[in-house]
Amino acid sequence: MASGVQIDVGGVAIGGGAPVVVQSMTLTKTHDVEATTAQIAALASAGCEVVRCAVPKIEDAEALKRIVRLSPLPVIADIHFNASLALKAIEAGVAAVRINPGNIGGPDKVKLVVDAAKKAGIAMRIGANSGSLPAHLQELARRDQAEALVAAALEEVELLEKLDYRDFKISVKATHVPTMIRAYRMLAAKVPYPLHLGVTEAGTPFAGAIKSAVGIGSLLADGIGDTFRVSLTADPVREVEVAWEILKSLGLRERGPVMIACPSCGRDNVGVENLAVVVEERLKAYPQAFEVAVMGCAVNGPGEAGDADFGIAGGRDVGFLYAHGRVLKKVSSDILIDELFHEIDRWIEAGMPR
Ligand code: SF4
Repeated sequence: MASGVQIDVGGVAIGGGAPVVVQSMTLTKTHDVEATTAQIAALASAGCEVVRCAVPKIEDAEALKRIVRLSPLPVIADIHFNASLALKAIEAGVAAVRINPGNIGGPDKVKLVVDAAKKAGIAMRIGANSGSLPAHLQELARRDQAEALVAAALEEVELLEKLDYRDFKISVKATHVPTMIRAYRMLAAKVPYPLHLGVTEAGTPFAGAIKSAVGIGSLLADGIGDTFRVSLTADPVREVEVAWEILKSLGLRERGPVMIACPSCGRDNVGVENLAVVVEERLKAYPQAFEVAVMGCAVNGPGEAGDADFGIAGGRDVGFLYAHGRVLKKVSSDILIDELFHEIDRWIEAGMPR
């Protein structure tokens, strides 16, 4: 069901079997080049692969040239209602523009933007959003919002195909997770273009991460979706962290270690929650992909940690260190974590034999 068409966004392939791409969006005023590029740098270090910047005003469009030059990531300009801002953004060298062909000022303006995008050889993101469906689809939306989202997106697709432009990806984002899932499933069955997934206004980090993981994760698990943004009311770096956890949990991409930890129970003599927090923090320094299990006791620890590359099982005075399903050593509890990382470092130095 993955999309057949592949597009290129500043050297990043999206769709057509390419790995699912992580996106985020800057929260800074785009015309504040220093703040915007600092945020892009932070997003890039967290693993963001394509970044989007809002371009509501002319000064934002004018700042794009410098942002594009300084950004380590392809920049997508996010534009509504104003075709001349889209033209300016394309002129500034952005990797793609996100527009809604339904609100950019009529078919002539759409053609102007499409012609400029074609000439620059760049892609677009189009699509509908549950909060901004066109008036003529409102009645359908009241009956079935997912149908209305798909209808709106297909109208945009038709408009661009008539202009002989097929270099785009599509989103049909909704705040209601089941609606969003249904809309993307319907759309994926109808078009070959790459899909940009998202749950709009997902919320604060806890609720938003769960909603995004359920909505985006359900679709990705079915092979639907080529790129996505986890929208959170938070520092966008958190969006990228959540995005990678979704991809890693589905086994779609690898980035750094994966930690599993037991939920703890009455047999936990070590305080596994604290142990897990410390291990998780120290694992952030590793770019390599491997799995570490943190278990509260040695009763179930070895079995449950058996698939991990490394594992520790805590105890009141002594704990166990495991590697690849076997006990490596028995260690005094106060140095258990240091020993774990010592062994991990040795294993990495040896070329990570499994
Ligand atoms: Fe309980 Fe031990 Fe299992 Fe953790 S590993 S949940 S402490 S039995």
